[in-house]
Parts: sequence; structure tokens; C-alpha cells
Amino acid sequence: MKILVVNCGSSSLKYQLIDMDNESVIAKGLCERIGIEGSKLTHQPAGKDKYELESPMPDHKVAIQLVMDALQDKDHGVISSVDEISAIGHRVLHGGTTYSESIVVDEDVKRVIRECFDLGPLHNPANLMGIEACEAAMPGKANVAVWDTGFGMAMPEKAYLYAIPHEYYEKYGVRRYGFHGTSHMFVSGEAIKFGGLDPENAKVIVCHLGNGASISASIGGKCVDTSMGLTPLEGLIMGTRSGDLDPAVVQYICNKENRDVNDVLNILNKKSGVLGMSGVSSDFRDIAAAKAEGNHLAEVALDAFIYRVAKYIGAYTAAMNGVDAIAFTAGVGENDKATRKAICSYLGYLGVKIDDAANDVRGKNAVISAADSKVKVMLLPTNEELAIARETKRLTQ
Ligand code: ADP
Repeated sequence: MKILVVNCGSSSLKYQLIDMDNESVIAKGLCERIGIEGSKLTHQPAGKDKYELESPMPDHKVAIQLVMDALQDKDHGVISSVDEISAIGHRVLHGGTTYSESIVVDEDVKRVIRECFDLGPLHNPANLMGIEACEAAMPGKANVAVWDTGFGMAMPEKAYLYAIPHEYYEKYGVRRYGFHGTSHMFVSGEAIKFGGLDPENAKVIVCHLGNGASISASIGGKCVDTSMGLTPLEGLIMGTRSGDLDPAVVQYICNKENRDVNDVLNILNKKSGVLGMSGVSSDFRDIAAAKAEGNHLAEVALDAFIYRVAKYIGAYTAAMNGVDAIAFTAGVGENDKATRKAICSYLGYLGVKIDDAANDVRGKNAVISAADSKVKVMLLPTNEELAIARETKRLTQ
């Protein structure tokens, strides 16, 4: 059974064709600059040379057709006919309060994706375009929506409601949703399997630390709390996002700089985080290099990033009245042993002990805590595409 996984952004389309018999990636690729001049397809078939094509892509329909052509090409293709694709799984950002479980797309699902355009203005329209493009290119095949907000929908009211007048939740769905849900679902599940934990009761904290960063607490794989909110801006300090801050900061900067709220929100999303704090870069490797050269603000940005993660781990341990395992994932979490160690240095009170030799690892499943650590600490690479493919298989088999 082969499943195509599609992740559409406003001007991009990422895809992976996965053979579910052995969960291997047969081909993957990316369409860039859709709807903009200079559109380009990069297609990487497993075990063959990379293929690049510059060709106009006025919309996602044209892009998906070029992907279909690449997948079936006699030289760089991997299938002889579209019939080999059983179903298509889509990453969809927002299902609002209506959908949390993955679902086969029908007209009602599309209506809800459309209704959530306001909640996910950059992603939901693109996600819908991707679904409609696949429907046009592969009529009759099932498309499955896997919601990035799905995992967070299990949070109890005390965790998801903001302390603002309740009418805003009732009228507009203003609540905490959480994002990176597919990653938190996948990694918390892996933590239970790889860590040999009790599937029903394991208390797991997942630290998804990449350019976007979020953290979740789950019991038996069910989300108790997660750090992103109505939008991905809340929570941890990120590459370019501020994470938590006093909302009065927005008003204060608006007044001082004669800017409007949208301007300042743009600053908080795109120019803040470790980029804004350090003035160096949003890339954690650049910041670590600047710190090594004695750049004080780079050092503070890294320290603040680590401190915020450690504070959330403390809060989530309290929320669950304990923690059995802490898992690190995504770009920083999978590759940066110094940051993992620095975060864990705050957790001695939980009995966390890191084994330096075991922590000297990148990009593969590993237990990095010492044998006598009271909490199991793990590195578990995330794989959102595989998680989407598994959900698609489950719903369409
Ligand atoms: P996103 O998917 O949110 O764009 P990723 O999960 O791909 O982000 O993570 C990207 C981040 O991972 C970059 O900021 C990069 O600096 C960081 N990263 C990758 N490798 C390393 C490394 N060896 N050390 C520190 N940071 C790293």
C-alpha cells in the first residue's frame, strides 16, 4: 500500500510517497514559489538522482500535476501509474472546535477547513487548495485530513480556556488549541514504545524544539496541556516568535512607535524570539557560534530559550503530578546535545540525570539519561509525514 503525504503552504507543496508495507519513503520532494515567478520542483526518488524542474506553477493544481508526472516519469519516477497510490494524507493546520480526529475528507470537512480560514489564515486556505488539487488530479481516491490542532483538542477546559470573558470562546472559538499536534502525537507514542512505558498511564513531556518550538504534557498519549495557544505564537521562545509575554507589551509598542496591532504581531511572529533577542540569526547554530565568540546577547538568547523550556517542564510536571519520560525532538532537540544537557541541568530536583556519553547522539532514537535517573530522558526524532501516512492507512484500509 502506497500513500502520498501532502503538506501545502501558501506558496509551497511538500510531498512524500511512503510504502506502508515497510514504512519506507519511496520519493519525496518540494514545489516552491507556487503562484510566484520562478516556480521550481525538486524531486528526490529513493536510490536515484535528484531531479529538478523549473516550470510555471500558477496554482497548487498545476504543482500537484507536476508531482504526479515526476512520480510516474520513466527516468526519475517510482510508480508506473497513479493507481498504485492508495490514498492521500494531508497535513491540515486547523480543524477549529469541530474536528480533532483525523478524517476522510468530504464536503463537511472542506466546509470546516474553510470556516477556520480566520484561525489559520496562512495555512488553511493552502491546505484546502492542496486537497482540491489532489481531488482533481486523482479523482475517486480518498483524501485524509490530519489536523495539526488535533492532539491539543484533548486538553481539559482548565488548560484550554483563557481567562477572558467566556463569550469570546462561545462566539469566536477563542481558546488554546496547540499546534505541532502530529509531532507531539507521534513522539509521545514513540516515547511509550521505545521507553517501554505503560501505554495507559505514562506521563510524558515532549519538547519539540525547532525553529518553531512547543512542548506538550500527555498521560497515556492523551494531551493534558501544550504550550502553543490560539496561534503558534504562545509558549516557548522560538527562532523568530516571542512566545509568552504580557499582552500589554503590544499596546505599549503601538503607542511608542505609532504602529498598529498587526505590525506589532508581525514583529512578535517574525522578528522576535532568539533572532530578536540576539540580533544575530533565527538559526540556533549561528547563535551558538556567536555565543562562542563572546556575543553577550547571543548568550542571553540561548539561556532564555533553555530557561523557558525548563520552566515549562516544571509546570507540566506539576500539571501531571509527576513525569515518567521527557523526550526531545525536532531540529534543535534532535541535534544539539549541549542544549539538551543545559535544559536537563535545571531538572536535578526531579532526579533527572543525563549520561554524557549516551547524550552524544544525533537524529536517532536513544535514551540519554543515566541508568539511575528517576525520569527517562530520550531523543526521539519526529516524523510527521509517517504519522500522517499511518493515520491515512488506518482510515482507508
Ligand atoms: P522547523 O521545522 O520549525 O523549521 P526544524 O525542526 O527543522 O524547524 O529545526 C530547525 C532548527 O534546528 C534551526 O534553527 C537549526 O539551527 C536547528 N539545528 C539543526 N541542527 C542543529 C545543531 N546541530 N545544533 C543546533 N541547532 C541545530
